[in-house]
Amino acid sequence: MDKNRHNWTFDELNSIYHQPLLQLIAAAHAVHREHHDLQEVQVCTLISIKTGGCPEDCKYCTQSSRYQTETSAQPMMTYEEVLDSAKKAIANGATRICLGAAWREVRDSAQFEQVLAMVKAITELGAEVCCTLGMLKEHQAKKLKEVGLYAYNHNLDTSEEFYKTIITTRTYQDRLRTLDVVDKAGISVCCGAILGMGETVSDRLQFLLTLSARDPHPESTPLNRLIAIPGTPLEKQPLTIIWELIRMVAATRIVLPRTMIRLSCGRLQMTDEQQALCFLAGVNSVHSGERLLTLPNKIIDHDQELFQLLGIKKRAAFKKV
Ligand code: SF4
Repeated sequence: MDKNRHNWTFDELNSIYHQPLLQLIAAAHAVHREHHDLQEVQVCTLISIKTGGCPEDCKYCTQSSRYQTETSAQPMMTYEEVLDSAKKAIANGATRICLGAAWREVRDSAQFEQVLAMVKAITELGAEVCCTLGMLKEHQAKKLKEVGLYAYNHNLDTSEEFYKTIITTRTYQDRLRTLDVVDKAGISVCCGAILGMGETVSDRLQFLLTLSARDPHPESTPLNRLIAIPGTPLEKQPLTIIWELIRMVAATRIVLPRTMIRLSCGRLQMTDEQQALCFLAGVNSVHSGERLLTLPNKIIDHDQELFQLLGIKKRAAFKKV
């Protein structure tokens, strides 16, 4: 059993979440100080090694082949392309490289062998590697572990109840099973949520309750704000208001004290002041996004400015909490 508390109740989470906002931020900040270096933020970069054409029906996703979106199915990136992107990201300060593929599940195939080679090579460059490849079986997790995989991302997104209305091609229990497989292989779990799909605050807290009951707690939890994608069933969803995101960050920090909390999707829509509040409330990791690898460095440069302004230093790879 890890050192964290695993028996939170829904009522406790509800009281934490609904306390006066400044009090909530202060409480989360105290927990954050106790377990983390306040000045340190991890920078992660996602490389989409296989984009689009996904058979799953996640209602928020631009990569599902069921919806008419701007994202078309692409072939898998080559080993050389991925390594080249990873090197650029590391040169730009990323210490965690996430390799994402729009697959329902991992298949024992030449493509999986390629992923294994990519994980090995990027790990050897000194970065933590995280993969998000869909559902995973035990022998596949073992292979990923053997080549040095640091973390595996598999999001629960929301509560079990609400999940059914967003995705019908797999179940919440399927998700939990893959998380167990990852845990069992000794790979860190990265498991997060999406805010703004039409769920209630109770759904968000149920998600948090599920994570907090897991032993060990996830090593990292990305909190995403849905960016409504034209062509998806959720295209009309409004952006979650910032105060709700901040409340969720703070509640997550209190309940998962040692977990890295990451701002991912939706961060680029935030102002510097909003991001600063999130750092105060417990965020200590950001996704800098793969688009940054191909665009001029404007956004990366802006992140550098923001980090400098706030006195933030980038977290080294493989550092334990
Ligand atoms: S499984 Fe992943 S890539 Fe596929 S539709 Fe769902 S979120 Fe998108």
